Amino acid sequence: MMSIIDDVLVRQGVELWIKRDDLLHPIISGNKWRKLKYTLDHALQLGVAGLVSMGGAYSNHLHALAYAGKCLEVPTLGWIRGERPDTLNPTVSDLQRWGMQLSFVSRQEYRQLRQFQRYDSLPDWSDGHYWLPEGGAGALALRGVAEIIDEIDMPYDVLVVACGTATTLAGLITAAPSDKKVLGIAALKGAAFLRDDVNRLLSGCCEATTPSWDMLLDYHHGGFARTTPALLSFIHEMRLRHQLPLEFVYTAKALYAIYDLLQQGYFQSGQRIVMIHTGGLQGARGSA
Ligand SMILES: *Cc1c(COP(=O)(O)O)cnc(C)c1O
Repeated sequence: MMSIIDDVLVRQGVELWIKRDDLLHPIISGNKWRKLKYTLDHALQLGVAGLVSMGGAYSNHLHALAYAGKCLEVPTLGWIRGERPDTLNPTVSDLQRWGMQLSFVSRQEYRQLRQFQRYDSLPDWSDGHYWLPEGGAGALALRGVAEIIDEIDMPYDVLVVACGTATTLAGLITAAPSDKKVLGIAALKGAAFLRDDVNRLLSGCCEATTPSWDMLLDYHHGGFARTTPALLSFIHEMRLRHQLPLEFVYTAKALYAIYDLLQQGYFQSGQRIVMIHTGGLQGARGSA
């Protein structure tokens, strides 16, 4: 846990702490570690022949999966959105170096892969191909994420996390005490559908009393993996002032949102906010 002290926080009487899950592991960082933990356990128990998943060309999820597969000596296969570029970016180069079999698919084919939700839903499941949905989502992912809550060893009022598929948000909601508030910051544009996804993930998996939660949709800075000059200078400032590394796809948008909400007086004096730093710094190599 890292404390941030800034004028605006002092003025508002609000405390801000960052839970540094980006420091969990040098490669398998942040929420991708959390989401893979029990999923990989399950796959190993089944003795699968391979781990198969999907992601974009900067995917933190595929990056973590490829490295885990290498360490566990389980073959991995990644379906990557878009055409194979002439020069591979650092993320895809790592995937290749770690032995992940790469298959580049069109955007349309990529969307169709989203129909597969369960680990055994691939047509070639009979060959032992264990499927991990986009971003490593799934019931077992929620269980891994829930462990974040036990590690927050101080009183707090509000939890904040960046959302892609919102699996991490859902996992936090399953485990946070009912007197807390959990706030998700959508990293993509038009993410209202994620509210339904969260409700679907939560249905049937947890107790009746969940904490209150919300998802804010207006901090995407133009869309998924888009940035604005304001966001880039915010990242720069946070690095200089607090030695806090952020990337522009997720974590910077979440912290930017917190600062914007502070300016608006959204938090009450005396409240303590904990932001989960979900990692992902590999994806921003060479860009910030
Ligand atoms: C994948 C990722 C997220 C989004 O997690 P979801 O569970 O898909 O919402 C957030 N932050 C970082 C750094 C990520 O890599």
